[in-house]
Amino acid sequence: MAQPKQARPKEQKRRDRKAAVRRSQIAGSREEWHVSAFNNALLQFDAAARRLRLSENQIAMIKLPRRMTEVLLPVRMDDGTIRNFRAYRVQHNIARGPAKGGIRFHQDVTIDEVKALAFWMTFKCAVVGIPMGGAKGGVVVDPRGLSQGERERLSRRYMAELIDLFGPDSDVPGPDVNTGPQVMGWMLDTYVMHKRDYLPAVITGKPMELGGSAGRQNATSRGLHCCVHQAADRLGLKLRGATAAIQGFGNVGSNAARFLAKDGVRIVAISDAEGAYRDSGGIDVEEAIAHVARRGTLIGFKGATRMRRASQLLELPVDILVPAALENQITAENARRVRARIIAEGANGPTTPSADRVLERQGTFVIPDILCNAGGVTVSYLEWVQNRVGYYWPEERVNEDLQRIMVTAFDHVYTTMRKRRVSMRIAAFMVAIQRVTEASELRGLYA
Ligand code: NAD
Repeated sequence: MAQPKQARPKEQKRRDRKAAVRRSQIAGSREEWHVSAFNNALLQFDAAARRLRLSENQIAMIKLPRRMTEVLLPVRMDDGTIRNFRAYRVQHNIARGPAKGGIRFHQDVTIDEVKALAFWMTFKCAVVGIPMGGAKGGVVVDPRGLSQGERERLSRRYMAELIDLFGPDSDVPGPDVNTGPQVMGWMLDTYVMHKRDYLPAVITGKPMELGGSAGRQNATSRGLHCCVHQAADRLGLKLRGATAAIQGFGNVGSNAARFLAKDGVRIVAISDAEGAYRDSGGIDVEEAIAHVARRGTLIGFKGATRMRRASQLLELPVDILVPAALENQITAENARRVRARIIAEGANGPTTPSADRVLERQGTFVIPDILCNAGGVTVSYLEWVQNRVGYYWPEERVNEDLQRIMVTAFDHVYTTMRKRRVSMRIAAFMVAIQRVTEASELRGLYA
């Protein structure tokens, strides 16, 4: 005979409930970690396309990447062995001009990620109104394990293997995570040696000595800084005395920290791939930059306390949060604990669509990546223009143009957000998608 169910003690019930919540959170977060960046990008597209009432034909012309190339790059290592590195180039859309997008060296690069990054480039160029399309490249490699010589041979092989795709009027690469001016210099040299023509406009983010633009090195952060000013103005937030946390302390993160600190913003936390550091009194940004220049990492930084869990940086009660590392950092799992008033997306795709919904409900002001970090591609475009004219501008002129382009774009997106009652992200996509659609329709369908 079945025994009557014994009532579980209250304490046990509470523990079970907590465990169930924990289990669901872990499952949720796992899902989010493995979530496809490209699917996220498509969800963003769909939300904006619905608002714009795009037709099936219009969508068919601009949503998916047009060309995806995958190659294996054989590279001779210092010990004489040959290693193959998987590499990609994705061209998403060229309705508005030659494809444009950086090349990333990272151990976690996948075709899915490169497709997403190429997609975002199309709409980033469109939202700031520069006449280029979208592309991205990547090599699956942990560059920390490479010597200088190995890195050079890998960079050259990438350009040599994919050379038919590249050209000032077809596809113009640039730097991204773990590739900077030196890698661009090697790639330019490889291109020039093959073509027997000095064509510096084939690649941007080059060293100044090779036709790089003044102001390119910190252009992404300068653009981000400009967007933060615009947002703070509209929210009535005074930057002097405000606080900020910066995830990722590479080109974008460290320069963003520097610009904000100059405004009197207290940088209370910074992080890189190796860990996070916190000081509620404010971190000396120049000291941290000098440390990274010496050591290549924040490890050993004495100017702040190392945080036990690096991801806690995202949850600090700050006015401004700058994710400037990789994709999928703010997810449905942690978005509820994000307490920043403004999120300035230095990285591409740091926030998943489900996190976006949570942030919107919380009233967080998100400056979306395709607008917030568009300063880099804007100055890349100005570099390309200078290369083609063969006349180089002083940094003030470059910065002035950048500022004007960013303010105009921010204004346009902000007005669209208010008028159409959508988030800043959807507004940015609406502006961008409309421009790409118009260009695509004006060109028509060839053959
Ligand atoms: P970078 O290689 O100079 O720096 C990346 C930084 O992120 C490093 O400090 C690295 O240690 C850190 N990092 C990596 N994984 C991390 C993690 N899990 N947690 C915390 N930190 C982590 O690269 P970058 O050029 O500064 O690019 C950063 C982001 O900005 C990328 O998403 C990139 O696509 C985007 N972006 C860069 C540019 C540009 O001009 N460089 C332009 C637009 C967008």
